[in-house]
Amino acid sequence: MARLNVEKDRIIEKEKVVVDGIELSREWNRMFEQRVIFDYDTSMLDKVTSIPGAESMGWCYQCGQCVPVCPVDTVGGEYGPRKIYRNLQYGIDLFESPDLWKCTTCMNCLRVCPKDVNMIDIMPAVRAEAVMEGQVPDELQEAFENTFEYGNPLGESPRKRADWTKEVSVEVPIMKEINRPVDVLWFVECYPAYHHRSKDATKALAEILVRLGVDFGILGVEEKCSCDSQRLAGEVGLFEEFAEHNIKTLKKYKFNKILTTDPHALNALRKEYPKYGGEFEVVHYTTFLAPLIDKIEWKKTLNYKVTFHDPCYLGRHNGEYDAPRKLIEALPGVEFVEMGRCREQSYCCGGGGGGMWLDGFMADHIKERLSENRIKEAVATGADVLVVCCPYEVSRFEDAVKSTGNEGKIIVRDIAELIKEAMG
Ligand code: SF4
Ligand code: SF4
Repeated sequence: MARLNVEKDRIIEKEKVVVDGIELSREWNRMFEQRVIFDYDTSMLDKVTSIPGAESMGWCYQCGQCVPVCPVDTVGGEYGPRKIYRNLQYGIDLFESPDLWKCTTCMNCLRVCPKDVNMIDIMPAVRAEAVMEGQVPDELQEAFENTFEYGNPLGESPRKRADWTKEVSVEVPIMKEINRPVDVLWFVECYPAYHHRSKDATKALAEILVRLGVDFGILGVEEKCSCDSQRLAGEVGLFEEFAEHNIKTLKKYKFNKILTTDPHALNALRKEYPKYGGEFEVVHYTTFLAPLIDKIEWKKTLNYKVTFHDPCYLGRHNGEYDAPRKLIEALPGVEFVEMGRCREQSYCCGGGGGGMWLDGFMADHIKERLSENRIKEAVATGADVLVVCCPYEVSRFEDAVKSTGNEGKIIVRDIAELIKEAMG
């Protein structure tokens, strides 16, 4: 065991702790102030890297490339795989640390990491151990319990999952009722089915599909949460149970492809469900609509200056950057301007990996919400509209518009809402 010969006066620079040129975390600072002298203690690193899925945590060689791209670090969260590895080297217990829950699994660190340290595998694997021990932040636990009890994290009645269809002027076919094959099975997912604001894009998309003459159907009350965010937050058992339910339900029907409104559902159905026997062709609605957009007859010119936020689970996780842009550029009268952090380098809204249910927890560990940081960037482009295509984002960014004092400067709209508006 190597002993660090640390003297308090030598290492403290302002509020940061620096040992041999390496900045350590606030937790370290606190311990140094208490004159705790550390030895290297790799038992925690050994414990974490022995968890199946978390092995790559041990591959970090501290190059630091992940630090400036981590959206949590950007907002004062003192975060990223480099910092987690360093803390583990000194025996700091990740299971007792808020660091276990800060990662949004945005994948930006993996994009730049020369050693393939993969937080997308590490986080769910380590969090699953904490979930088994019941060590879960309260608000996340509530989302897990709602999902278990009601089939959705919002705690809404499963019987009302298709109630949104009563709020649209077009008929939305439900597979159990029409009892025939369809070309496209639309996996609507929870926020698009229930959330008062996300539903607006769902209703718009139904009208677009009907206008385009798409042969589609939904599962309605037979559908349950895809559970991808719960999986990434560590609830692997719940994910498996729900994946098996959804796969069994989907296999009852005949269709050519699955359409998802939600990039998180896209990720689950495309990448995870095949591991449980659910092999389907799955596309996000932007990918599906892009080749069809020229068939729409526009009735209204929008005259908006817009910018676009790439959802992590559509872009970095599933490689789709062009389809949303093609749809935006097809809108009559729209001027499109990119934010500096776009496409592969896009920032994160903070909702992924369970972050959707950890806003209160995160507020104690960051200086501003990730969605607030992003809204400031969107406003700086001079855009009137921030365009999104993930159901987590509309409400997150609308809240951030208010909390950053930008009401009246920018509004948030899903692409489907803008297409419907221009269709008339
Ligand atoms: S980029 Fe990869 S190897 Fe470099 S510090 Fe980050 S996790 Fe470690
Ligand atoms: S996945 Fe994203 S939030 Fe998590 S450590 Fe990497 S860059 Fe930070």
